[in-house]
Amino acid sequence: MKHSDKNNSSTNAILARVLIILTIAVLIIPNVALSIMGHFTLLEAGANILLPAGILVFLLTWRNRPGSNVLWLLPFMVLAAFQIVLLFLYADGSIIGVDMFLNVATTNPSEAGELLDNLGPAIATVVALYLPVIVLAIVCMVKKVRTSDRTLNRFRTTAMLLSVSGAIVTGACILEEPYYSIDEDLYPVNVLANLSTAVTRAHTSARYFDTSSDATYHAHSTRPDNLREVYVAVVGETSRADNWQFFGYDRFTTPRLCSLPAGTITGFGKTFSESNTTHKAVPLLLSNLTAENFDNKINESKSVITAFKEAGFKTAYISMQCRNHSYIDYFGEEADTTIFVREPQPGEIVEGFYDCDMLAQLDSLLTQDDTKLLVVLHQYGSHFNYVDRYPREEAFFLPDKTADAGAANRGQLVNAYDNSIRHTDNLLYNIIERLDSINCVGGMVYASDHGEDIFDDARSRFLHASPTPTYFQLHVPMIVYMTPKLQHRDPSLINQARLHQNNEVSSSQSYTPTLLSIAGIQSPDVDRTKALTSKHYSEPEERVFLSDRNKAQNLHQAGFTTEDFQRLERLNHI
Ligand SMILES: [Zn+2]
Repeated sequence: MKHSDKNNSSTNAILARVLIILTIAVLIIPNVALSIMGHFTLLEAGANILLPAGILVFLLTWRNRPGSNVLWLLPFMVLAAFQIVLLFLYADGSIIGVDMFLNVATTNPSEAGELLDNLGPAIATVVALYLPVIVLAIVCMVKKVRTSDRTLNRFRTTAMLLSVSGAIVTGACILEEPYYSIDEDLYPVNVLANLSTAVTRAHTSARYFDTSSDATYHAHSTRPDNLREVYVAVVGETSRADNWQFFGYDRFTTPRLCSLPAGTITGFGKTFSESNTTHKAVPLLLSNLTAENFDNKINESKSVITAFKEAGFKTAYISMQCRNHSYIDYFGEEADTTIFVREPQPGEIVEGFYDCDMLAQLDSLLTQDDTKLLVVLHQYGSHFNYVDRYPREEAFFLPDKTADAGAANRGQLVNAYDNSIRHTDNLLYNIIERLDSINCVGGMVYASDHGEDIFDDARSRFLHASPTPTYFQLHVPMIVYMTPKLQHRDPSLINQARLHQNNEVSSSQSYTPTLLSIAGIQSPDVDRTKALTSKHYSEPEERVFLSDRNKAQNLHQAGFTTEDFQRLERLNHI
């Protein structure tokens, strides 16, 4: 062998080893991070690291071509990068959930862009981790680098040792750890299982119109046909009760609602949503579904809009969000009039629109003088990026513009978030004014789909929709307004609502029954004991959460921590 050939082959041998070791290092990061952040037991952490590491080393040495071996693992690098970004984002140690995959598929480009803008450090980290490995793998392919038999054998022996010990530890976990299961706890098996469930759910939902075509509420109105009635159902977005002045927050976030004479609106301060994810929380609000039956029934259910139609109402659905082929869209399409304000043309997204722009649509519907009218308004509310949810002239808490959404800038983020609540306050106040001015029997029900984390404690949790919810992600504002004519016509409704102000409420269970109740609509398919206006109102037996895998969990199972339970305890004593 020539001297230069010898040099080349020793350089190649080093390259091969470096590439294999680097790849193992970067691909095992999610396993290590999840074991630490997910508070795994030592046994679980062992299973979560040893077995995947062993299999990884096998995959990297199954042929003597390290470059192409690594590039075959590219999908796992993408998965690992996604997982690391989520660990940065939510800081709760949870894996990429089913909902997360569905959110990626259903989030509109501008929303994703807003989020990506604020994930600079996380994205820079994954690029710095994975790009050099990919580049090195390509270099090895181009240079036709081969792993020597000796190196292969060494790595394969290591792989065998890791895999066997990993298999033993995993077996011990299954036998010893009461809640351990491979498809939920072993990365990346759990994430691949979630991906598969997400694909199945997307397929199921695509058949929605066939499976739901016979759905009915068997609903009828108990009021005269010629009585003018107007109801507005407002579905909020990402608004949390703890930032509402109306519910005791110490900043002026709902000055207009608070300026109304006492008793004009009834608020329910102990309301919790059963989901922290828009595409499940909104259908829960707008139907007779609950966390308990959501998974079995969603694909054959229609919304409260259908119940109003059966009872003789004209219906309209106006949304500030974009279509995303979720059940929310399907429900919205049930209405006689469906308007997505930000999408005047298919595919065209309009920027610079705010929730109060829906008032113009509402005004136009009110001038049509339909005897009976239901309008559902779906807000963009307080969804991140908060500063984009209100016009500049409404910026009350300043400064509110920050380029970096980190814990260090919490003050500015909260300023912007609180400004967005003020915009919702403005919207709700204007709706009430309009209902009053037309002098009808009518009312408004408002609840937010879920809440939000804004770096509230040492956990540094941010945003919502992670598989593990928090108190702030589930504690939502819910209010009911009834026009003087409705109060006069049926005083028991307002009296009962006031009696239940301090009761525990699940917005997911009570929104639709309450809306139907104030509208005098009866349906055998809706649980009347969940209407906040009913003298038979019964509190939820237990607070539940619709998990990422669509199971109803209590808050312990859902992952509430001591901080969350302490806050819940304080709320319960108010
Ligand atoms: Zn939402």
